[in-house]
Amino acid sequence: MRYAIFGDIHGNTEALGAVLLDMERAGADRRICLGDVVGYGAEPGECVRTVRDAGIETVQGNHDSAAIGETPLDYFNPYAKKAIEWTSGAIGADESAWLRRLPLTIEGDGFTVVHSSLSRPREWGYILDWASARRCFDLLSSTACFIGHSHVPIIFKKEEDGSIADLPELSAPLAPPARYIVNVGSVGQPRDGDPRASYGLFDSGGRTVEIRRVEYDYRSAQRKIIDAGLPEFLAMRLEAGR
Ligand code: ZN
Repeated sequence: MRYAIFGDIHGNTEALGAVLLDMERAGADRRICLGDVVGYGAEPGECVRTVRDAGIETVQGNHDSAAIGETPLDYFNPYAKKAIEWTSGAIGADESAWLRRLPLTIEGDGFTVVHSSLSRPREWGYILDWASARRCFDLLSSTACFIGHSHVPIIFKKEEDGSIADLPELSAPLAPPARYIVNVGSVGQPRDGDPRASYGLFDSGGRTVEIRRVEYDYRSAQRKIIDAGLPEFLAMRLEAGR
């Protein structure tokens, strides 16, 4: 089975449309969403409807949670805060209800899905180094944990002897008995210096993962952000991929 695992769409319909098309071309059998469907971008309602109406299993992200008033705004930086307040007013009751129903984790066929970390998932900590990766590995009962949240793709591997390292390549085998944490990057707001949308393609039979990058019309997404009166910085960063 080929799983397309994607998230951090952030109200960017252009990027979402491009990755959905790429998944189809890549022969994905099933799609799973890592959350943060909304926040930052100008079309949060459209993104919720696209993911919801396609019946894509989705976990809740911190922006999804904040947009429905479940995570306090003081957690966020001023740009994010402004965008969340705007998003709360822009989504309808149906979309809010869907965001509210999302689980924090999903258990798949030999893998686990969570937006931030298995360690206190509702506190939205980041996995950026080996220490934070270890806290997540300690709670992982499957071979691989797929995450988003930082918008930077990276793969951490924990060997049987307990040692942890991040892998130099973003296409890798995910073979037991080692365990893995795979950050698939962000669809709608990449921050690794590459403006192309990012997601993961996981082959559960061959046990391999590939991080794919997809070009999309970021200028159109930028224009919508400016037209909506959202902070200009949120438009600029799409172009820089930062
Ligand atoms: Zn995010």
